[in-house]
Amino acid sequence: MADASPISHPFLNGKPKQLFIGGKHVDAHGGTFDCITPGTGEVIAEVACGDAVDIDRAVSAARTAFEGEWSQWSPYDRQVLMLRIADAMDEHFADLGRLESIDMGAPVARTGMFKRWIQQTFRYYAAQAVNIRGEVLENSFPGKFMTYTKRAPLGVVGGIIPWNGPMISQLWSICPTLASGCTLVLKPALEAPLSALRMAEIMAEAGVPAGVINVVPGAGPTAGAALAEHMDVDRIAFTGSTATGRKIIEASARNFKTVAVELGGKSPDIVFADADLDRAAVGAAMACFNNTGQICYAGSRLFVERSIYAEFVEKVAAVGRQLRIGNPLDPGTQLGPLASAAQFERVQRYFDLARSEGLDIRSGGQPAPGLGGGYFVEPTVLAVEDPNSRLVREEIFGPVLCAIPFDSEADVIGHANSTEYGLGGAVWSRDISKAHRVAAALRCGIAWVNCYGVTDPSTGFNGTKHSGYGVKGGPWHINDYLTSKTVWVDLNS
Ligand code: ADP
Repeated sequence: MADASPISHPFLNGKPKQLFIGGKHVDAHGGTFDCITPGTGEVIAEVACGDAVDIDRAVSAARTAFEGEWSQWSPYDRQVLMLRIADAMDEHFADLGRLESIDMGAPVARTGMFKRWIQQTFRYYAAQAVNIRGEVLENSFPGKFMTYTKRAPLGVVGGIIPWNGPMISQLWSICPTLASGCTLVLKPALEAPLSALRMAEIMAEAGVPAGVINVVPGAGPTAGAALAEHMDVDRIAFTGSTATGRKIIEASARNFKTVAVELGGKSPDIVFADADLDRAAVGAAMACFNNTGQICYAGSRLFVERSIYAEFVEKVAAVGRQLRIGNPLDPGTQLGPLASAAQFERVQRYFDLARSEGLDIRSGGQPAPGLGGGYFVEPTVLAVEDPNSRLVREEIFGPVLCAIPFDSEADVIGHANSTEYGLGGAVWSRDISKAHRVAAALRCGIAWVNCYGVTDPSTGFNGTKHSGYGVKGGPWHINDYLTSKTVWVDLNS
């Protein structure tokens, strides 16, 4: 391992970070890797790198836990546990949020907002734990028979999460797992494994039994693939790229796992001339620049009605120019670095492409200067006439906004839907009928009117088309973690 970083954090105590399997910290068969902070490019920890052997151990621990004492826990027991976890997360949040910022570069101003989200999500799903219900069904079979459905936890779940917001992504598999009585093997990405490892410790201290939540950081093609293929895993909950999502679905077919995949996006954000333009400009800028553009539902295609195009694009570019880029641990920072060197290079390739295509770069388009060593780039606004430009079609996963003019409602709906993706979408207008019409016409899983990116555990979050399937959140999500059995009772004798 290279020299340890001067960044201080109680979790980064110089000791290698091990896997968390069966309630214990264990070394990985797959060795270790250097975990890097994107703010400076320094190594901050040596972390266990799970491989197929480690995944197998974790699945076995999860299966043992699923069939053991955990299966005797009542819904109320699980609810109480989850409420206790919510309190424990609250107590430890300052360190947890900071750890996430160090690990993947989001500013503390952003990760700090997740304190409430984590509380709310654990508490929302805690309520669901005691609301699992089957149904009594009338039937017409001759004679007297009673039929009812019985719900039971599905089994062992594999959670595969990306690096752009692991502290939040992991909740979508942890919370329904605990509420339903399943068990989990969570595989965070190598780029940002720390919050998952720390959260597993906090949950264990709050009383999660050994083996119920296991965490195995590892590479996608080895650990991730082993989890997706594993014959003793019943479900995969995946968040990541569309290309990987396809591989996950194929691998899951081996033993007929159920699957939810939340994948890439290139979400349209549509601004009509009759919108509140000042609000819309800030909304449109942050729809793309938040988290340095590394959000699956980022509003990276901004469609602007032609009559206000020049004025509005300048407003958005001005918002971008004013954002404070810097050290994620500085409370005044609004935009942190990209999460990895690979992502930094990828975004710069798109800057080069914009230049080679002769696009009109209204702001940004460069690495951010003066912050040596870290993976910083400027928030970038490109004025693009051609909706078929590669920059408009491809997911960049950086703060790169393409602004495209449109002439009519029909025209913009056509362009907005002309993408393989279908995750988010937004419309800004004071004309309520038009706003509802456009929201209805967008082919996406979540549409916003006069806002962007607002979400809550009690509402659904999902994609359509190549952005995936499976609704996270809302009252339906827990059903994906339960089996349904129909029971027939002969009442004739
Ligand atoms: P990104 O391009 O954002 O890194 P990926 O889809 O490659 O998105 O990664 C998301 C998660 O999927 C990560 O945890 C990664 O390790 C994992 N992953 C990557 N490739 C595979 C694979 N072939 N099978 C299973 N998981 C994978």
